[in-house]
Amino acid sequence: MFVSAIIAAGGRGTRLGGAVPKQLLAVDGRSPLERCVTSFLGHPGIHEIVIALPDEFVAHPPPYLTGTPKVVRVVPGGARRQDSVANAFDAVNARADVIVIHDAARPFASAALIARTIAAAAESGAAVAAIRSNDTVKRSTPLGTGTEPFVAETLPRESIYLAQTPQAFRRAVLKDALALSETGADATDEASLAERAGHPVRLVDGESTNIKITTSDDLAVAASIARGRGEPWVMSLERVGTGYDLHRLVPDRPLILGGITVPSDRGALGHSDADVVCHAVTDAILGAAALGDIGQMFPDSDARWKDASSLDLLTRAVEHVVAHGFSVSNVDITVVLERPKIRPHVDAMRVAVAAAIGIAVERVSLKGKTNEGVDAVGRGEAVAAHAVALLRSRP
Ligand code: MG
Repeated sequence: MFVSAIIAAGGRGTRLGGAVPKQLLAVDGRSPLERCVTSFLGHPGIHEIVIALPDEFVAHPPPYLTGTPKVVRVVPGGARRQDSVANAFDAVNARADVIVIHDAARPFASAALIARTIAAAAESGAAVAAIRSNDTVKRSTPLGTGTEPFVAETLPRESIYLAQTPQAFRRAVLKDALALSETGADATDEASLAERAGHPVRLVDGESTNIKITTSDDLAVAASIARGRGEPWVMSLERVGTGYDLHRLVPDRPLILGGITVPSDRGALGHSDADVVCHAVTDAILGAAALGDIGQMFPDSDARWKDASSLDLLTRAVEHVVAHGFSVSNVDITVVLERPKIRPHVDAMRVAVAAAIGIAVERVSLKGKTNEGVDAVGRGEAVAAHAVALLRSRP
């Protein structure tokens, strides 16, 4: 029996927040697609793989798709998932008896699951991996606008299955299903097209670990599944943000930079302690998470923040981004100040800023520059700071 695998990776789902489709997203680890490809390449029952990728990746496919021990063909994805599968089906070897379709966003399907889905399809024509519902299932009244729906009926739980992939089909069955798709029928999976084309579809025991990675919450589940298998899981989303701040320098104010009081005849004027380092870093961190800025989070008009320590505000901003699923990876800061020289205080500032963020001091860089006598900063009338922060979603 010749078996072809189709991996549907043509979607543009970017709900995880990146510009790269989720199935191709990898920072310093393997993407879900690479994990899927590895499973199918290593599977003794699979003879070739056809992958539908977004157009822009077809000409330059990821390196793990070349030089493979089995034939891997790459085709462009379509507007709908079923169009991607149809494009892939056209590229399948004419000898294929059974075609097994899998979502690239499900990286944990086991070899046994793939094998039993193929075997069931070979026997019955079509088979879909599915798991029994543990929850009681309600059908709702039609969804109105602005109001919450009501329960129309409670479905008998014993007969409810949640469909996954792999889904496998004898060649003729998939051909019928995709012909229906060409006539305009929409479907969220190929099994439903096969059903509508009149073919019986067998339910095969799926796996609870065979999750589909769609939202950033799924990344946490994926990380724990991978850890449970002793595999590294380092996929994460990176987000970068910049921050800038400037305060005027006046006599009779302390000069506080990165939480450290720097001996100086002038200090920064401001509502709080006017710490440009902490303010720029806070804005960079909030900016990376697209959670506004320091002025929105700690408005001048709010008496709570008068004379607040900017290190404390920084810590609160970090807690805010952490609550949104991020951790701070590193920050890099440039202070622009004509005098005094800050070099002797840089390490103390790094320690204080790192402690406020809750990261190792090695992840905080701080450099001092002068403005070469140019403009207000150069004349010693102001101090400025620039900062860049890198955040990662927390797996
Ligand atoms: Mg400020």
